[in-house]
Amino acid sequence: MKKEFKDSVSKAVHNATLTTALGKFSEAYKVNRAKAYEGIDFEALRQNIADRKAFAASHIDLLAASFKIKAEALGAKVFLADSPDKVKEYILKVARDNNVKNVVKSKSMASEEIHLNDFLIKNGMSVKETDLGEWIIQLAGQKPSHMVMPAIHMTKEEVAELFGKEVHERLTTDIPRLVEVARKELRSKFLEADMGITGGNLAVAETGSIVLVTNEGNARMVTTLPKIHIALVGIEKFVEKFEDIVPILTALPRSATAQLLTSYCSIITGPVENTDGSMKQLHIILMDNRRTEMSHDVKFKQAMQCIRCGSCLNVCPIFRLVGGHVFGSVYTGGIGTILTAWFEALQNSEDIQGLCIQCGNCKEVCPGKLDIPDMILEIRRRLVVDKGQSLTQKAIFSVVNNRKLFHSMLRAASITGKPFTSGGFIRHLPFFLSELTEGRSLPAIAAEPFRDRFKKIKQPKLKEKAAFYAGCLIDFAYPEMGESLIKILNKAGIEVIFPQDQTCCGAPARYNGAYEVAGNNAVDNITALLKEDVKYVVSACPTCTVALEHEFIATLESLGRTDWIPQAKKLAEKAVDFSTLVKRLVDEGRLSFRQGQKLGSFTYHDSCHLRRTLKVFEQPRELLQKAGYQLTEMFECDMCCGMGGSYSIKLPEISAPILQRKLANIKNTGASIVAMDCPGCVMQIGGGLHQDGAPIKVKHTLELLVDQVEGK
Ligand code: SF4
Ligand code: SF4
Repeated sequence: MKKEFKDSVSKAVHNATLTTALGKFSEAYKVNRAKAYEGIDFEALRQNIADRKAFAASHIDLLAASFKIKAEALGAKVFLADSPDKVKEYILKVARDNNVKNVVKSKSMASEEIHLNDFLIKNGMSVKETDLGEWIIQLAGQKPSHMVMPAIHMTKEEVAELFGKEVHERLTTDIPRLVEVARKELRSKFLEADMGITGGNLAVAETGSIVLVTNEGNARMVTTLPKIHIALVGIEKFVEKFEDIVPILTALPRSATAQLLTSYCSIITGPVENTDGSMKQLHIILMDNRRTEMSHDVKFKQAMQCIRCGSCLNVCPIFRLVGGHVFGSVYTGGIGTILTAWFEALQNSEDIQGLCIQCGNCKEVCPGKLDIPDMILEIRRRLVVDKGQSLTQKAIFSVVNNRKLFHSMLRAASITGKPFTSGGFIRHLPFFLSELTEGRSLPAIAAEPFRDRFKKIKQPKLKEKAAFYAGCLIDFAYPEMGESLIKILNKAGIEVIFPQDQTCCGAPARYNGAYEVAGNNAVDNITALLKEDVKYVVSACPTCTVALEHEFIATLESLGRTDWIPQAKKLAEKAVDFSTLVKRLVDEGRLSFRQGQKLGSFTYHDSCHLRRTLKVFEQPRELLQKAGYQLTEMFECDMCCGMGGSYSIKLPEISAPILQRKLANIKNTGASIVAMDCPGCVMQIGGGLHQDGAPIKVKHTLELLVDQVEGK
């Protein structure tokens, strides 16, 4: 990551006005969005949208041809532009042919994408944005920070100052007065304008219609008052039939601003008469700019399903901390990273792709069913293929690639870390390593890793067997978690085996784009874990379980190592996370709980991978309550803790405030225990509470259950 980029991130994180405004907005958004979707089956709705948009994306040429025939039969002119330059040339020609001096615009991300305003201004025209948010950022000389709310980063004080300069008047923060100023200023611009430029939320091939959705009604003025209307539409906005707009218009306002409806929805089907009886010129520019290429890319074609609602930004823990401007481009957030990589250049996403912590919040709310974190991983992979890895990463992954060397280094770290260790934690590290312990302590590396302790554990000989996949953290930092897991499974009549050849699950390599290394890790683990005939392969780390169940297959597929896929699938069928397995064993009557236990209050932190990829969140809560703990839910229980594997090391300036927010939410519950199913989260939250000094125990679910469950 470049230094200037890290500096801009730091600056954003320390901008209290920005983080407070975005934090409050995202909290309110979550509640309001849930209300707006009440009574609607969101999963069915988004599947419907995804199907219709995927169909359109795979038939772009046909839809574009059909749209052109329909719209031109109605009197519009349709121009297909493959590049931003062609769009600009076309608009300039129309402007020159008609002696255009004044242009008004309604909100259009496509026009931002090609920097149209600067181009028209350089060519002698006056260009006025008329969407309130866009006008504010135009006056401020900035780029939009959010695709739906472009000026969300600005305070009312800043807006009052900007408007005051524009109208040469001292203005206060009285919002109705500010709106009145905007209305008065913009009204005259509508009346003077020779040309109106809009975007298009949808383009309907069946009817040749453009659909425009706004809250301020400004698009109606832009499309009706000037005698020329140019609609600039990215070709991802196509739908095949008129009926396709229904599910999209159901989701768009709910997802964008948590509204049931937007104030204005205009459907423009052909040009209409001007007030003087002449016909309006309606030009519809269908812009490609690599969208067709994207629609043919096996990984990225799903990005064509985006309906530009901005919901993914509203729920992103990183966006709400750093805002949009650190992304440096027109499109911001996770989806912005993907669009920048395509519409600008892959290299332009090099720094910003690193902002994604892979929490999966965006994927959960996306009405187009886009898997943003997966596409960001693909960007990482392609960047590594293009440029290779940094020397540091190369050195790290060459160690991870070699299990014996990796494990001996971890053993050595247990000795070198001793001078900094106290009470099981490393509180401060010296010199350049000090950032690692900023805001949280680190767990000490265990003097004896789980793999050595396992050899001394005495288990009964049982018929049913499970292989335990420990993952690096349980193996080398929290071996006692592994011991608890064995005790619990033994009580249920399951003998645990520990294949010694198991190694890192490959997540660190995969999340850094080093797929070759992740692929080798996958093969080593598949070989080790399938060696013995076991019923289950159990893991108590959700990141590892996701690797076993999904990512080994995905990684090997991306690498073309198809000979390993059947084995990877076999392993995936056996893999199970700890809480799901124990819940199953309780339901089968093989485990029960001690009766009448009153074990105190706990709150539960949902780890990102467990909740969102594995969809496990009820099981640990139910098990802990049955054991005798009383649950107090925390605010944003499913929000990331800021760990994200190596993320907390690479971007401590972001990870630390996310952790502080999580700690505050935990403390606010008043619970004496915070439970979770992920050793990574135990490390992050446990380390944070250790430095904070709050007397709250941080426990993996299995540690809380081990003495409370009984066998048959
Ligand atoms: S990626 Fe999904 S959530 Fe984000 S803007 Fe597009 S449709 Fe909305
Ligand atoms: S996965 Fe999480 S961090 Fe990444 S873009 Fe989505 S919400 Fe943001």
